[in-house]
Amino acid sequence: MGAILLQGGTVLAHEGDLVKVLCDHDILIVGNKIEDIGQGLTLPDGSAVRVIDCQGKIVSPGFIDTHHHLWQSQRIKNWASDTSIEFDEDLLPEWWLSTLELLAKSAPFGDGRVRLGLGFDDFKVPRETVRDLWARCHALDSVSLLKEYDLLNSKILFSHINGIAESDAQILLAYGAHFSSTPETELQMGLGEPVAFNPDLSSNASIGIDCHSNNSGDILTQLRLGMQHARGVENVQVSENGEYPNVNIKLERIFSLGTIQGARAVNMADKIGSLEVGKLADIVIFNATSPSMVCAAKENPLAAVLLHANVGDIEVVVVDGVVRKECGNLVDVQLLDGINERPGEVLHQREISTRLLESRARIIERGRGQDVGRGMEFLYKTFG
Ligand SMILES: [Zn+2]
Repeated sequence: MGAILLQGGTVLAHEGDLVKVLCDHDILIVGNKIEDIGQGLTLPDGSAVRVIDCQGKIVSPGFIDTHHHLWQSQRIKNWASDTSIEFDEDLLPEWWLSTLELLAKSAPFGDGRVRLGLGFDDFKVPRETVRDLWARCHALDSVSLLKEYDLLNSKILFSHINGIAESDAQILLAYGAHFSSTPETELQMGLGEPVAFNPDLSSNASIGIDCHSNNSGDILTQLRLGMQHARGVENVQVSENGEYPNVNIKLERIFSLGTIQGARAVNMADKIGSLEVGKLADIVIFNATSPSMVCAAKENPLAAVLLHANVGDIEVVVVDGVVRKECGNLVDVQLLDGINERPGEVLHQREISTRLLESRARIIERGRGQDVGRGMEFLYKTFG
């Protein structure tokens, strides 16, 4: 079995929700799991071991994105002028169900790490029932509705619950349900204050990208934007009260929002979200000697990541024990069986970009001639 030794890095490890900085530590990855974390680790006999020198590097758990409209990545455009949307007035069209069926039959993907989920959980009921349910949603808020249907539990992940009523928030916390805030879209689209940064609710919170067609696609940016916005709002209130501004929203809490709490939100906290022996090797390695990080990293590695780093400072990414980014560049990927026309084909990043642009062109072409006004009317009528 292959092994990777990450040698001599500054490791950001979790103890519960607390972050512990381990200087000059090694991480041994065997297969797809973290086998050991310590100093002066010895290499296993008979393994094809690869050593990555992590001196001057900060080793972090991989960040977890809990809300992302991935396909929209091809459609980078200002929302207000985005007219290339194809719509279907049937809420449960046949193509939708058959596509889901095809995906479900092709699963599992990525050794079981990519799992099929659904944003709408009543697809088995008759169409009229769904329409009735949708109508009822206008009258009831979703938290109360799910409680009434006895469906609320810790596996539910809500999105964009900004402005949630205090009573609903208490129900959500009592049932251990999770939620995702997406700072960049929520702040731009007028969806209110990203609630993940509210200290009373943050225990069940996580962070998502939402629409990459609208904003950045990395959790680092979302964490920084949401944190500083929340600090600003908090201090406006403090200043109005005639008090001296303070920083009550701490970095440690924000780091956990983007890591271990995201893992809890997607029910994978036993596998990902922190650097621990036995967990899957999902690891991000920052170049802490980059111009943007070097002095901050010496002072406070956590602050260096959350306040100073950008994604260009990420030198290596390991996902499921496989190096996916190296020397700052994404490595080639092999197409999966089951859902690709040419399974096994290896694609370089340039070819992936070409395919994305081709997909983008197809989407734009399909959108030509659509009655956008009628589509928007349908959307408003359906979703209120
Ligand atoms: Zn969304």
